[in-house]
Amino acid sequence: MYYLGVNFGRTVITVGVVDENGEIIIKGSVPTLKYRGIEDIVKDIATLCIRVVNNAKLNIDKDIVSIGIAITGIPDKKDGTIVYSSYFDYHTVQVKSILKQYINLPIYIENDANCYGLAESRWGAAKGFKNSVTVNIGQGVGAGIIVDGKIYNGAFSGAGELGHHVIVVDGEPCHCGRRGCWECYASEDALIRDAKILSIKYPKSEIFKMVNGDFRVMSYNTPFEAAKMGDKYAVELINKYIKYMAVGVINIANILQPDVIVIGGKVMEQGEYFLDSLKNEVEKHHYGDHLSNTLRAPEIKLSQIGYDAIIMGAAMLRE
Ligand SMILES: [Zn+2]
Repeated sequence: MYYLGVNFGRTVITVGVVDENGEIIIKGSVPTLKYRGIEDIVKDIATLCIRVVNNAKLNIDKDIVSIGIAITGIPDKKDGTIVYSSYFDYHTVQVKSILKQYINLPIYIENDANCYGLAESRWGAAKGFKNSVTVNIGQGVGAGIIVDGKIYNGAFSGAGELGHHVIVVDGEPCHCGRRGCWECYASEDALIRDAKILSIKYPKSEIFKMVNGDFRVMSYNTPFEAAKMGDKYAVELINKYIKYMAVGVINIANILQPDVIVIGGKVMEQGEYFLDSLKNEVEKHHYGDHLSNTLRAPEIKLSQIGYDAIIMGAAMLRE
C-alpha cells in the first residue's frame, strides 16, 4: 500500500507517493500562488494528488491509504483546518473538507516542520534517538519536537514554533508581529538580506563581485562561498550568522535537552564547514558547558533526508 504526502509550501506545493518504508516512488509539483483563495489552492492539491497517483500507475481508491498534508502554521488536526498561518495570513481556513469534495480518503494535517522532524526521527539523522528536535532552515525557521518517537504538539497543536522565539529584543521585525525572532536572523531570507546589505556597503568585496552588483542573484550560498574564498566581510557575516544560529540551538538544548538536534535546509550543502563552527559555539555556551564529562550538549547533526522529509513525514501521519 501507498500513502500520499503533500507539502503545502510557501511557493510550491509538492505531492509524493510514499511506500511503507518512507521511499518516495514519484512526486510532482505546482506553484502555490498564495494570493489565491484557499478553495483554488486545495483544488490544485487534489488535482496534483490524482495526477501523481496516475503517473505512478496506481489507483487512488485501491492503492492509497491516506493523505497527509504538511502546512506552514498551526493546524486543527481534528477539524482538518489551518487555525493560523502568519505567512499566509490564514485564520481558520478549511483544508480537509475542501479536499474531501475531490478525494474520499482519510486526510490528516500537520505542521510542516513537525512532519520533517517525524521523518528524520524514523528514517534520518535522528533515527535511533528517543527525543529529537529537527530545525528546518528555509525562508523561515520551523522546528519539529519529537518525544518518544512521536510529534510533541502541545495543548493546541502550536508547539515547536521555535522560529518565533525572540533572540534580539526590539530586533528585526517579523511577519508574526513581534521583533527579533530567531527566524529573522537564522533563516535563508535573513542571511540573504544581510549579505545584500553587506555587499552594498562594501562594493570592493568578493561577495559584491560574485553577484556583479546584481543583488537579485544573491543566494543563501553566496556569502558562504565568498567566506571560503577568504572575503573578510563575508567571513565576519557567516561567523555572526552561525552565532545567531547557535543562540537558538543552545536555547533548545537548555530548555528541552533532546538527545539530538538535527539541522535541515539549504545549509546542509555547507556540510562540515557550517556544522563544525555551530557545534563549537554550542559546546562553548550551553548551560553546564564546564561539566563536559557529565552534562554534554545534545548531539548536533545535519539532516540526512533534506526537503523530502516533509512529504515523507506527512505521508506517515495517522489519527
Ligand atoms: Zn516571529
